[in-house]
Amino acid sequence: MKQRVFHIPVFVPHKGCPHDCVFCNQRKITGQIEEMTQAKARSIIDSHLETIEKYNDRGTYYAEIAFFGGSFTAIDRESMHELLSLAHGYVLSGRVGGVRCSTRPDCIDDEVLALCKSYGMTAIELGVQSADDEVLIASNRGHTFEDVTKAAKLIKSYGMELGLQMMTGLPGDTPAKSIETAKKIASLSPDSVRIYPTLVMEGTHLALMHQSGAYTAQTLDEAVELAAELVSIFKARGITILRIGLQTTDGVNASTVKGPYHNAFAELVYGRVWRSKIESDIIARSLHDTTYEIDAPSGKISQIIGHKKENAEYFKRKYNIILKLNNTKS
Ligand code: SF4
Repeated sequence: MKQRVFHIPVFVPHKGCPHDCVFCNQRKITGQIEEMTQAKARSIIDSHLETIEKYNDRGTYYAEIAFFGGSFTAIDRESMHELLSLAHGYVLSGRVGGVRCSTRPDCIDDEVLALCKSYGMTAIELGVQSADDEVLIASNRGHTFEDVTKAAKLIKSYGMELGLQMMTGLPGDTPAKSIETAKKIASLSPDSVRIYPTLVMEGTHLALMHQSGAYTAQTLDEAVELAAELVSIFKARGITILRIGLQTTDGVNASTVKGPYHNAFAELVYGRVWRSKIESDIIARSLHDTTYEIDAPSGKISQIIGHKKENAEYFKRKYNIILKLNNTKS
């Protein structure tokens, strides 16, 4: 049986981050962000573990504590030691299998990796955002793609899992650049990736650029179409896709952001992936005015039909084809 994987998210804001990425609102909301302490982290982890352990038998799942939110390897050392030693205790007790964090590529070196490893860290996710240095400059990221390449290799040399996160629709970005970014990311052989369309959060530089007309956000349809292409690139190389699009749990919703936000963004993207797959077959076989039968595992039915049945309607409208799904239950 396939093990369920749980990431127990502990949000560690990077207070005093010296960078100012155009899309990030951490500086602007610094006064409202509460620091993560060892006690708070313990309470979050315990409450997640309680639920996980109540509904799952030992051995049927794998849990990791995930320090997300900012650049974990760049926070002050005292806090890092406190949080890591707490997490290490859960690893040693066997209640979790590992620890992961997200950070910037230029906040990775031998010293910090050795430290993280000594506390049982098993995976590090890097915010790559783009492989195009002009896009990185326009986004005020303060690092290059060369930094990503070096950090990715170093993380792997410590035997840790590598996760890479990319964004689409950044200032100066194009679909072609995003596709190139996905290919370059894939060439670094990460274990996992996350794909985020750029959202315009209140109080950011990007919001000002948006207001003045200097930045145009992707439409929802553009973002979905592009993310579907990126998914195909990563899937073809067997790379796990951990997340597509920010969700309400990330503190965003339609009223606080502009841009391609949708609370079922990943479903829209997977629906588009299925649409392309089916359409390629329809075109290759010159089908029209017929019924198209497809084996549909239970968990994929809504993706194949599409959000609000948009794929079913698309094929009916364009090819007069009716989708017929045969439920394969797996
Ligand atoms: S995205 Fe990360 S590195 Fe950039 S400003 Fe925000 S916290 Fe700092």
